[in-house]
Amino acid sequence: MTATADEEAARFHELLKAFEGRPAAIAGRAKDPVNEPMIRHWCEAMGDTSPAYTGPDAIAPPTMLQAWTMGGLSGHSDRSCAYDQLLALLDGAGCTSVVATDCEQEYLRPLRPGDAVTFDAVIESVSARKTTKLGTGHFVTTRMDVRANGEPAGTHRFRILKYRPAATTAQPARPLPPKQPARRPRPVINRDNHGFWEGVRAHRLLIQRCSSCATLRFPWLPGCNACASPEWGTVEASGAGTVFSYVVMHHPPFPAFDPPYAVALVELAEGVRMIGNITGVPYDKVRIGMPVRLEFLRVDEDLELPVFRGSEG
Ligand SMILES: [Zn+2]
Repeated sequence: MTATADEEAARFHELLKAFEGRPAAIAGRAKDPVNEPMIRHWCEAMGDTSPAYTGPDAIAPPTMLQAWTMGGLSGHSDRSCAYDQLLALLDGAGCTSVVATDCEQEYLRPLRPGDAVTFDAVIESVSARKTTKLGTGHFVTTRMDVRANGEPAGTHRFRILKYRPAATTAQPARPLPPKQPARRPRPVINRDNHGFWEGVRAHRLLIQRCSSCATLRFPWLPGCNACASPEWGTVEASGAGTVFSYVVMHHPPFPAFDPPYAVALVELAEGVRMIGNITGVPYDKVRIGMPVRLEFLRVDEDLELPVFRGSEG
């Protein structure tokens, strides 16, 4: 029976190989000529400060080759029907997933601002059936030939794997655990902020204070934003504050939360701001400038949170 399956795979591969050499894109034209703004943005994004990419003799970074040929959000109108047919054939064989695997570029001539970019792309190869960790399918390589003002400027090879996802191992059915009320998310406690949460456990709201310049900071950070000193101590907040800003959460609903509820940015009397729930007043009575007072809310058996109690009027 295996031979039959192998024969079938070989027959299917023959069908796919018939697409080799057929166009993937014909007479493509870049949406913009090579230009300084795109070069500048690229260099900023890449952190590339090479002087070759600025000034009157600037060239474009060679690795931008593909950037000039991209269709952008509105896409391309020059993709060939052969490429679409090839993908449809693979879809029909169950290879409905796709992943880009690698690309390879060759540079033949530098691109300069003002160059008009045109390109053609060809389906270069379709591999025999391969099994990878992702699943079984075929690698499809396209080669794009890029020209600047009609002269060859470079090639861009792009490879995808069109595959049938590997079956996930079935888990034996287990009885569902009895339904429990959803728990509030746990805070992420790390070495930079564990002192804050120790304070909460002791019902103390601790603010960091820089040992060097005395600037207060919240949330907790390893160093001072004002003077960069890593040395710090803490001061305990008095608990008095005012609502600096707030939002009322309606949607999306999260388990363990009961919308609508108010979430405020509270300015503490010490001057730093922190985010917390407002208790004691209905969500629609919370106002900017409202005085609030710190309290600790026991959420469940192992979580307490600082919240702020407002008072109307
Ligand atoms: Zn400081």
